[in-house]
Amino acid sequence: MTQLNNKTVLISGASIAGPALAFWLRRYGFTPTVVEQTPALREGGYKVDLRGVAMRVIDRMGLTPALKQYSTNMRGGQWVNAVGKPIATLGPDLIGLRAPGDDEILRGDLAHIMYDATKNDVEYVFGDSITSITQSHDGVAVTFARSAPRVFDLVIGADGLHSNVRSQVFGEGFVRPLGMHACVFSVPNHLGLDHWELIHAAPGRVVNIYSTAQSAAKAQFIFRSPDSPPDRRDVAAQQRLVADVFADAGWETPTLLSAMPRSPDFYFDSSSQVHMDSWSAGRVALVGDAAHSPSPLSGQGTSLALVGAYVLAGELRAAAGDHRVAFERYREEMREYVDVNLKLGESNASQMVAGSKRQLRMQNLMMRYVSVLPWKDLALRPILKPLNAAANAIVLKDY
Ligand SMILES: Cc1cc2nc3c(=O)[nH]c(=O)nc-3n(C[C@H](O)[C@H](O)[C@H](O)COP(=O)(O)OP(=O)(O)OC[C@H]3O[C@@H](n4cnc5c(N)ncnc54)[C@H](O)[C@@H]3O)c2cc1C
Repeated sequence: MTQLNNKTVLISGASIAGPALAFWLRRYGFTPTVVEQTPALREGGYKVDLRGVAMRVIDRMGLTPALKQYSTNMRGGQWVNAVGKPIATLGPDLIGLRAPGDDEILRGDLAHIMYDATKNDVEYVFGDSITSITQSHDGVAVTFARSAPRVFDLVIGADGLHSNVRSQVFGEGFVRPLGMHACVFSVPNHLGLDHWELIHAAPGRVVNIYSTAQSAAKAQFIFRSPDSPPDRRDVAAQQRLVADVFADAGWETPTLLSAMPRSPDFYFDSSSQVHMDSWSAGRVALVGDAAHSPSPLSGQGTSLALVGAYVLAGELRAAAGDHRVAFERYREEMREYVDVNLKLGESNASQMVAGSKRQLRMQNLMMRYVSVLPWKDLALRPILKPLNAAANAIVLKDY
């Protein structure tokens, strides 16, 4: 067996990319430590898609049975108007725009699956965050907000769109907002939805609610970004904004909004992308949204995070821990896949929300038309084809 260099790896962020990277590094004989700023594993988020190559990564992790257990198993969904009258009804694959073999899961459930698969042999430090990173020839000295300073061989930022590691090591200027904000939180399933989703669009806004019947429902609000968005840490201001923007959206919106102040898992962020030429600097690298968020509007962020974690760990193994070689190969392997998905996110942003009443009427008409077509697949091909191509724009190596 080849001797590994750079065995100790600090990973910042315990959502999807961080635990997935820890999983593979542990399997290959490295010693990962994951530091997460929240006091416990973060709950929350809406349904996320797993498509194409990402499903093969899940399979190689041996996690397909767990995924199937928590899969949303949607029966379908309905577009409704301001008084709840159905506009269009679509089946499970068309509502989520999935190809055969793709799947869908609540983000919080997937984070739990990743954490459960690693918690017994990976060190997790919750409620802490990196405060400084100092690289030298043979290691990285790290200080933390709460824990004592430590030295690691490598540091990886898996800490999302607003990555702390990226800011500290690479600086600012990589985040590109796409002009939309999204907010998600748990609500009572007051409509008795059973693996069913309802979607209501008003000019400049969309509100969705989904539930599996066994669990609470999730409400998602997507809207055009305001000129000056509230501070990322000011939850009260974020909730005021959502309440204002959706005040006259009609349908069940007031009931959903009334649950917002008490929701245990309120999530609010801009739909933004991260564009970087390189994802490494010396002994530090980035993975998942921290490196290349394609934005939630692409529906591909979670897939990219899982594939990136697989490739980064695999290249470290293939290079016996030589980070210079591994980080360069990681960039070469991922570049095209990332670029195609960034483009997809950009083009989805322009079509996501109808801006005016007229555009909304056109959108509703199109939804109704698609829902009654006998050959829906054909009508949706212009949307599904690029999505499917982006989801498969990388060939996985066997490491
Ligand atoms: C609570 C939550 C809800 C989400 N909901 C949705 C959704 O509804 N739809 C969607 O498409 N995408 C959603 N996302 C984003 C989605 O999870 C990612 O696009 C994708 O899964 C890639 O994951 P990631 O692990 O790279 O980044 P993320 O999922 O963003 O995870 C980053 C992790 O790093 C942690 N972190 C941040 N800063 C620090 C720090 N300084 N120190 C230590 N840890 C830190 C965060 O708490 C988080 O756990 C959500 C993310 C979160 C965290």
